[in-house]
Amino acid sequence: MPAKISPSRHLRVGRSKTGLGLFTCVPIRKGQFIIRYRGRKIPTEITDDLDNRYMFEINSRWTIDGANRRNIARYINHSCRPNSEVYIVGHVIKIRAIKTIKPGAELSYNYGRNYVDTFIKPKGCRCQACEAKAMVVRSRRGKKRGRTKRGGR
Ligand SMILES: [Zn+2]
Repeated sequence: MPAKISPSRHLRVGRSKTGLGLFTCVPIRKGQFIIRYRGRKIPTEITDDLDNRYMFEINSRWTIDGANRRNIARYINHSCRPNSEVYIVGHVIKIRAIKTIKPGAELSYNYGRNYVDTFIKPKGCRCQACEAKAMVVRSRRGKKRGRTKRGGR
């Protein structure tokens, strides 16, 4: 377990269920700082005019535009039962583990209600927790009908 996570050495961008995701190659302990959400700081009032889903609002005045690919924290996907969380120190957005994370696991945090309502709900959430829930519902329905129907989404 490294004392400090080095994004370039310990984290990797990889294929996940919903496209790309960020994975850890090393174990991470609960509470450990993982990575910063980097980007240029722009006034929050102009973000409504920009079509960019990597905006991270610090407060009513300032927002971080994390669209740059060098900001690998942007690859962390949303989960309704995440293993990480965001916290803000001054104007710096940081991400830390809220449970012990095993090597090979995908990192996730809860994007918050605004984002979920705007971008995720219209398509349906595909995080692991929601997928598992959907599978239980599907198999129950299948049992009622006496067979399991696959696909059809
Ligand atoms: Zn979900």
